[in-house]
Amino acid sequence: MSAAISIHGAVKAFGDTVVVDGVDLSLPSGSVTVVLGPSGSGKSTLLRAINHLEPLDRGVVTVGGETIGVRLRTGRDGIPRYKELPERLILRQRSRIGFVFQHFNLFPHLTALENVAEGPIAAGVPRAVARDRAAALLERVGLGDRGDTRPRQLSGGQQQRVAIARALALEPSVVLLDEPTSALDPELVGEVLGVIRGLADTGTTLVIVTHEIAFAREVADHVVFLDHGRVVEQGSPAQVLDDPQHARTRDFLSRVR
Ligand code: ADP
Ligand code: MG
Repeated sequence: MSAAISIHGAVKAFGDTVVVDGVDLSLPSGSVTVVLGPSGSGKSTLLRAINHLEPLDRGVVTVGGETIGVRLRTGRDGIPRYKELPERLILRQRSRIGFVFQHFNLFPHLTALENVAEGPIAAGVPRAVARDRAAALLERVGLGDRGDTRPRQLSGGQQQRVAIARALALEPSVVLLDEPTSALDPELVGEVLGVIRGLADTGTTLVIVTHEIAFAREVADHVVFLDHGRVVEQGSPAQVLDDPQHARTRDFLSRVR
């Protein structure tokens, strides 16, 4: 299977603290990967690095078979390093990656429809076409009748569904979701997981950071357990969730279940 996205040798430090410590991941097209790990293990930094919101210190990100704009030089240790990327190349690769944040991050002054249409309009899609597509995406997340509503008038679950529609607006190769239900009241979690399940069922390549273990078991093709910035173990949900090989994975699972 071809990889929709892969990262190789990803390293990121803040000051002296190495937060992502040599991560390799390959995400086949249409696959659903769930990333688990304790708070502070580097999950968000890894996702943000894939999307170039956080520049890596080392490593490469390949999207759709193209290591876009990453001009490599290989260090003495053999690991390819980023050189400074031209902003337009970062934007081009980022446009192929949808991102859903824990706290939705919608534009408060724009309506739901405008939030979804805004990326494509900025990318040059004619306004009327972008708005039509945005309306279809809102329909897809069950909010076809809320296009004119501003975020503050929507529930958290509705806002997150708008954010998911927005993440899909540029027809990305992969959608990254960072704890998409953690900020929601419990009764609103189900509607957002339902939308994500729908994406998984229709073959969207997804990477989901979540503590919803039952959901991970149901939708994931691949589960990755991260601790201290390293992949401690990975495999099928049955392997990692039901038969973890490492004490740290077992300990983590016993705490979140
Ligand atoms: P997780 O999402 O798994 O909880 P994060 O990737 O958010 O973990 O954070 C990993 C570590 O990196 C934490 O110790 C956090 O405090 C630190 N960190 C994250 N972002 C920054 C930043 N911008 N500057 C300094 N430290 C950061
Ligand atoms: Mg996080």
